[in-house]
Amino acid sequence: MTIGVLGGGQLGRMLALGGAPLGQRFLFVDPSRESCAAHVGELLLGPYDDEKTLTELARRSQVVTFEFENVDLGAARYLSELVPVFPPPRALAVSQDRFAEKSFFREHGIPTPPYHAVNSRAELDAAGEALGFPFVLKTRRFGYDGKGQFVVRAASDLPTAWDTLGAFPLLAEGFVPFTREVSVVGARRPGGETAVYPLFENTHQGGVLRRSVLRPNDPMQAAAEALLRRAMEELDYVGVLTLELFDRGGELFANEMAPRVHNSGHLTIEGCEASQFEMHVRAILDLPLGSTLPRAKAGMLNILGAPPPLPALLALPGSHVHLYGKSAVPGRKCGHVTFLADTDAELQARLDAGAALIASSSV
Ligand code: AMP
Repeated sequence: MTIGVLGGGQLGRMLALGGAPLGQRFLFVDPSRESCAAHVGELLLGPYDDEKTLTELARRSQVVTFEFENVDLGAARYLSELVPVFPPPRALAVSQDRFAEKSFFREHGIPTPPYHAVNSRAELDAAGEALGFPFVLKTRRFGYDGKGQFVVRAASDLPTAWDTLGAFPLLAEGFVPFTREVSVVGARRPGGETAVYPLFENTHQGGVLRRSVLRPNDPMQAAAEALLRRAMEELDYVGVLTLELFDRGGELFANEMAPRVHNSGHLTIEGCEASQFEMHVRAILDLPLGSTLPRAKAGMLNILGAPPPLPALLALPGSHVHLYGKSAVPGRKCGHVTFLADTDAELQARLDAGAALIASSSV
């Protein structure tokens, strides 16, 4: 059985590692020879929108999925004429454009910050007036990890914000003074069976995820889960879906949706009965979903740029090390470490020790 994957980065790599015990082989399409997923599967080298490459992918795959959301929609639709493509291309279309995404949330009763499309300087000024300050200006497309964003703190920032991002179609959204950021990750099978993980509580720096902690029995679990299930139903979703949420003192606001496995879910590899990667494979193959129950207290740290020496990482108590085999470019996600522990205090101490080591070497 071969699963075709658009994208050959670390998410693809971990999908292959998660699916291998179920007897699955993986075929990745990626334009880069350096793709780290190719270390654990086969690489079809080619652009994502090349018909010849896509046709070969479809011919050799039982089902096709993707590991990043900026997949060319035309390519996803072309493929779906030839082979089942999960998640459905409609989920891609919604998540690729922040305006479409926010409109989807609003339409289906998923709370989200107030927002306005901005296509001119006049519309930017009007958005500032409607939203008040601060507000966040974002590119509608191709933004990730806080890239293509500008926090407009006062009217005097408007000219700089426009000079920085005005060349792109934009979205202005209300600034949420959140208490914390959480994500809810779950899977849905074609028949409608779903499985949702306990919440992950996430810490970002400079818009990039640094730390995620598994939060079983969180008071916001039921509310977050209901929002995720609604999104999955509305999209007739198949696969793993992630909803990133702001929690403002017990009130949830959807920030964005990722139609794929998610960085905050990496800790499920060791921290839960079935990992998000295995769960995605089960869902797209229409196999019974696994258990999302925690195995222990769990938390994860991202490694950006050059990782600390492997012996030092392995020597950290409770650590489970994942290096992606990528060349270390400053700021690039090159690996992660998951820590398991018996108590919250032990987990916190382990995460702090890991963070100190990572801070001492990565950039
Ligand atoms: P994003 O690329 O939309 O996930 O944004 C990256 C990070 O910027 C988020 O994880 C938040 O920490 C912050 N952020 C984005 N949008 C808002 C907002 N409307 N209000 C407050 N913080 C935000």
